[in-house]
Amino acid sequence: MSAAAETLPTASSARTHATLATAPTGPQRCSTGKHIVHWFRKGLRLHDNPALREGLSDAVTFRCVFIIDPWFASSSNVGINKWRFLLQCLEDLDSSLRKLNSRLFVVRGQPADALPKLFREWGTTELTFEEDPEPYGRVRDHNIMSKCREVGITVISRVSHTLYKLDKIIERNGGKAPLTYHQFQALIASMPPPPPAEPAISTETLNGATTPVSDDHDDRFGVPTLEELGFETEGLRPPVWIGGESEALARLERHLERKAWVASFGRPKMTPQSLLASQTGLSPYLRFGCLSTRLFYYQLTELYKRIKRVRPPLSLHGQILWREFFYCAATRNPNFDRMEGNPICVQIPWEKNQEALAKWANGQTGFPWIDAIMIQLREEGWIHHLARHAVACFLTRGDLWISWEEGMKVFDELLLDADWSVNAGMWMWLSCSSFFQQFFHCYCPVRFGRKTDPNGDFIRRYIPALKNMPTRYIHEPWVAPESVQQSARCIVGRDYPMPMVDHAKASQINIERVKQVYAQLAKYKPQAILNPHNLQRPNVMQSSPSPTSIIANINQSNYLCSQAPDPQPTTASKSDGFDKDAIVFQHPSSNSRRDGKHTQFKKVVIVQTQSTNVARPPTPERPNRCSPQPNFIINLDAYKTNPGMDTTQEQSKQDNYNFKNLAINNYIQDYSNTSEYRNQQLNKEEAYQQDVKTNSFGFLKPKFYLSYTDNGVSRIATARAATQNEINKETASDPEKEKSESNLHSSTMQTAEFQESSKTVYDPNTKNTE
Ligand code: FAD
Repeated sequence: MSAAAETLPTASSARTHATLATAPTGPQRCSTGKHIVHWFRKGLRLHDNPALREGLSDAVTFRCVFIIDPWFASSSNVGINKWRFLLQCLEDLDSSLRKLNSRLFVVRGQPADALPKLFREWGTTELTFEEDPEPYGRVRDHNIMSKCREVGITVISRVSHTLYKLDKIIERNGGKAPLTYHQFQALIASMPPPPPAEPAISTETLNGATTPVSDDHDDRFGVPTLEELGFETEGLRPPVWIGGESEALARLERHLERKAWVASFGRPKMTPQSLLASQTGLSPYLRFGCLSTRLFYYQLTELYKRIKRVRPPLSLHGQILWREFFYCAATRNPNFDRMEGNPICVQIPWEKNQEALAKWANGQTGFPWIDAIMIQLREEGWIHHLARHAVACFLTRGDLWISWEEGMKVFDELLLDADWSVNAGMWMWLSCSSFFQQFFHCYCPVRFGRKTDPNGDFIRRYIPALKNMPTRYIHEPWVAPESVQQSARCIVGRDYPMPMVDHAKASQINIERVKQVYAQLAKYKPQAILNPHNLQRPNVMQSSPSPTSIIANINQSNYLCSQAPDPQPTTASKSDGFDKDAIVFQHPSSNSRRDGKHTQFKKVVIVQTQSTNVARPPTPERPNRCSPQPNFIINLDAYKTNPGMDTTQEQSKQDNYNFKNLAINNYIQDYSNTSEYRNQQLNKEEAYQQDVKTNSFGFLKPKFYLSYTDNGVSRIATARAATQNEINKETASDPEKEKSESNLHSSTMQTAEFQESSKTVYDPNTKNTE
């Protein structure tokens, strides 16, 4: 890799050379004064650049360097759009530096090798850079700092990629990153506001400092072209997003004008147009640091004060704070971008399926809404937040049951704004692996698409094969009669793929799978992510970081989606009490209530009834209870039906049983056919218990074993269910929590709830041998 990168062709010598009236050029040793190098990584800007500004004070010479890290350059996992964007950022930076009689030095090599060589050549006395909050960058910077220390070079690094110094937030939280947005907001509210953005570097800031530029600067240090980096550019479409600080600042202005308009005239509506790249989008610019987060933050503050004439609430800065939240959660967690070894990530037995993954990644799933989004991502490098929700849910817990890590990698390759922390954080969110648990909210790839793009314009734009498909069938072309397909010149299965899964079936199975995982987790004492106090409360009102209003609307329309086409998809049918166009989620209970009323989830999730009478095991507390009884298995534990139970309770059990029938029996065959997932970290004792259950109850469903040793999840005690006391303590009455829990339609995480209905607690530690 390194060799390949080091033999990168240099910039064409035909390029115009800088004609700068500058300090001496070429290799030299500067004996006196301060000679600084500013190392650009992110933070590709001259405004709000505190490290560079500080370095420039009393400097004699300065050089701004960007290193094309061979690891990054030669890795195939960075898409061409992203490279083009980066090179445009560098060109823009170079052009701004020229205005200051300086140049950008683009250096090929490994920072740890290249920098010391240049320091020697240039007689550098001080290195400045923006502090990198991500673990990879922290390690890299630590190494460089050590090298500089060895040779007596001063290092100045300043925070400016995030609003706050993240370590300070963590310290304030007792050394742990806050894992809920709520907690995060409370912490920052108790801290001084972030420092304001600093003005752009100007001739005054330079105060006489100059940049020695040699005649062969372009050859040695010019910004390379895509071709020089080895990309094939023939047929490459013009960029939808133009990189660079100048573009970022122009966009910020437009963004704020729009915000002002919105603040004065009301909320923006989600339209199909919102799905397209807009002139006010900022995320790639924040990602590469062409735009300062602090500038954005304070300009929003000013705007709000001008319009409302009061100090803005913290929530105004919601989106930027979500970015900060994920950065904070990731900064000390080098495994934040993976499931294994990641203490905040639920361990879910995802399946590996390269073929299915490739179909998803290339927009070949057969679901036009999903495919159009993935094609837009590949072609343009940006997709709308809700579009990200749709495809992320589809890949993971919705339809394909493929690990969020795979999706994250595809986003990382293709998304211009792909950010190590935010990307991984949001993928964990969408897959219910962390931060968010409402797995029963599953996006329907047909209904969600129809709601967002009712006429199918977005689909037609990115999938030409479907351009003549009538609107009625555009979101599910496979149900179009053959004659319609023929006249649309799109035969499904030939011109456009058949859907790769039966969404209704797959999502039901997957909802049940996640439920099983959560049910297992409920047995362990929550330490980090599994504490409902931590986790669920802030997400209840805000199921997604952005844009909340749209999400809130969608969340309210919580019904089963149907695969059958609506007679008139573009007009809302309200005859049965709800807006069919608003149906975007699959709800596990809805099959049983076609009348449109919302089926109430009961407090006990009964996963399976016994097919035979199995004796309850005698326990020290209940030595005589061993006669065969009709039992339920609740969250994988057995509960006895109480003969004295009143009819309401009986009814509730019955309802739960119906729910079980719906969720499991329909697909029991599929379950039986799937392979078992075994966790290598499982200890013998636990495996034994699971075997006992299997033998005793003829338990056919695959069981999902969870690791609990190194992932921050520990068990309440040894291998036994929680006692009532422990549960009471864990779920001590908290009005906020109750409110939050009442919003959850399932009780898999609420141990106390199933206690309430079941009265007796089965002790799994007692081996049932009958
Ligand atoms: P706006 O709505 O105008 O928000 C302004 C800025 O706030 C954004 O530019 C971004 O920096 C920040 N922001 C907005 N929403 C979020 C959020 N939910 N979390 C964190 N920061 C946010 N955003 C990224 O910046 N990088 C990523 O790698 C990324 N990956 C994502 C992956 C998935 C699966 C999902 C569902 C979302 C992801 N997002 C990511 C969040 C969000 O989709 C984008 O930030 C947003 O769509 C960018 O559009 P915008 O600039 O118009 O944002």
